[in-house]
Amino acid sequence: MPNLQQTWDNSRFFTGSDDPQIAATARRLKAEIDALATLCAPFVEPVEAAAPLAPDQFEGWLAQVRAAHQQRTATSKQLGNLRTFISSVLSVDSRDASASEWKPTLQQLGAELSQATKALDIFLLRASDEFIQALVADPVLAELSFSLRHQRQLNDQLLSLAEEKLITGLAVNGLQGWGNLYTELSGTLQCTVGGESVGLAKAFNLLSSPDRTIRSEAWHGVNAAWESRAETVAAILNAINGWRLEETRRRSHHRTLHYLDKSCHQSRIDRATLDAMMETTYQRRAIGQRALKAMGQVLDIQPAPWDLFAPPPTSQSEGQSEGYTFAEAIDLIASAFSQFNPAMGDFAVMMAEKGWIDAQPTPNRATGAYCTSFAEPKEPRIFMTFEGSMNNVLTLAHELGHAWHNWVMQDLPRYKTFYPMTLAETASIFGETLVRDALFEQASTPEQKLSIAWEEGSAASTFLLNIPSRFTFEQKLVEARQRGFVIAGSLKTTMRDSWQHWYEDSLTHYDEMFWASKLHFSIAELGFYNYPYLFGYLFSLGIYAQKDRYGSAFNDLYTNLLRDTGSMTAEEVVQRHLQQDIRQPQFWQASLDIVDRAVSRLESLAL
Ligand SMILES: [Zn+2]
Repeated sequence: MPNLQQTWDNSRFFTGSDDPQIAATARRLKAEIDALATLCAPFVEPVEAAAPLAPDQFEGWLAQVRAAHQQRTATSKQLGNLRTFISSVLSVDSRDASASEWKPTLQQLGAELSQATKALDIFLLRASDEFIQALVADPVLAELSFSLRHQRQLNDQLLSLAEEKLITGLAVNGLQGWGNLYTELSGTLQCTVGGESVGLAKAFNLLSSPDRTIRSEAWHGVNAAWESRAETVAAILNAINGWRLEETRRRSHHRTLHYLDKSCHQSRIDRATLDAMMETTYQRRAIGQRALKAMGQVLDIQPAPWDLFAPPPTSQSEGQSEGYTFAEAIDLIASAFSQFNPAMGDFAVMMAEKGWIDAQPTPNRATGAYCTSFAEPKEPRIFMTFEGSMNNVLTLAHELGHAWHNWVMQDLPRYKTFYPMTLAETASIFGETLVRDALFEQASTPEQKLSIAWEEGSAASTFLLNIPSRFTFEQKLVEARQRGFVIAGSLKTTMRDSWQHWYEDSLTHYDEMFWASKLHFSIAELGFYNYPYLFGYLFSLGIYAQKDRYGSAFNDLYTNLLRDTGSMTAEEVVQRHLQQDIRQPQFWQASLDIVDRAVSRLESLAL
């Protein structure tokens, strides 16, 4: 193996959080943002005049848009670099004092940047179709063509400029204040597990303990803690959903908007696609239920909500024997990737050679794993904590899949590289699936095979049952909120019913406090946050399912498909590259067939 690094090297950007260049860059950015605000100020006038531009005015305004667009791109890239650098420092050491100080300053700069260009954005939304046709014919501005086409679908929901500004301004202390209150609560709530008082994050980790008594105590502890604040969280959910419904009502001046419209637009999918996916998943919910039953059989239990993260029984006894070094993990991933596409394998090795991955366990390190990237030059980075488990190997493969997605879009202009949450997990789950299949083939003992099949079974139950039950709950919550305030008692009943709808008899109990314990329902910025995970999972498997059908042609097809995720809707991506319609159940059935086979594999090992 060549020279691999397990800590990242970001020194080409800044030498450290105390680098004087950071302050210099921030000052320069501040000046650039002020200049950008001046550059964008003239756009207010045509917006307020609300009369379409005459064709002889096009050239002048195009020049103005071009100048603002180029300046915005340059400033965004520099701000992006600085943000990525500061968050990379904080991930490795959350106590880094200068990085902690820079973080809010950079958030402020980000907010000022979007304020500065607000008039430009609204001008582009309201301009006539003729002007936009002229605009996307301009070589510099052509990269905006998809994002404008997509954003302009919201044209008939726009309010006046003054009202739009008022909503954005009031939301900081209104809508977002409720989300912040939830974060505050979840950071300070304590619960009792094994006679010891612990924070919720620690209690959450205990849910994957091999000891069922600990899991049960942790689950009951977490729920008791939330129960003590049930009225507060009910107030949060009512306020957030009440705000959204009122905003939707105000925006319905041209046509009546459905509460799912905004989410589908953000996800770049049609409502028909969402419906086809949810309905097909519901028809085949037995796959997820069978996974739970098989896992219960192995553990000799009837699964309850506190068993959903239970590890397979082998992981204890195997202990060190299944440990991988970081180099072994890279080697294993690179060879699995290479069998599919040699360039993808080389890329995995390159990421580690260049010091673009930080995986070395260190004190004060952030939890979790993610893939990010610097904007200029465009370079991906991966953060995770690698301790040698098979799960770590799969996480690394997942993040390398994300990085590959970034990498194949490297030469595209900035505005063609933004993909929605629904398409963001395509490459990651694809990478993970390649490695999981390779691991399963290599596994020599039934225990090793079981531990891989276990991961697949638990993914099946999470994606096919848990995520959809959240969707069902949120729909019922919004519908109830339309009629009035929803008290904590009703939230419990609704959650219980939603779990029952999906899990049926595969669990002995349902998690009726899940509306409080799951952060996702209290995210102020985003409603219906959960279904994109199911979409990403099934979508990626659906593409993986085509691998053998296309043979050697699949490689290029897959790369081109990824490259288009920033400039098409999900429907268009699949239609263009796979000639399939994701509004039809067939596409989703093929993905569910793959999950079905994985669960059968688990069932045969569970005997
Ligand atoms: Zn991911």
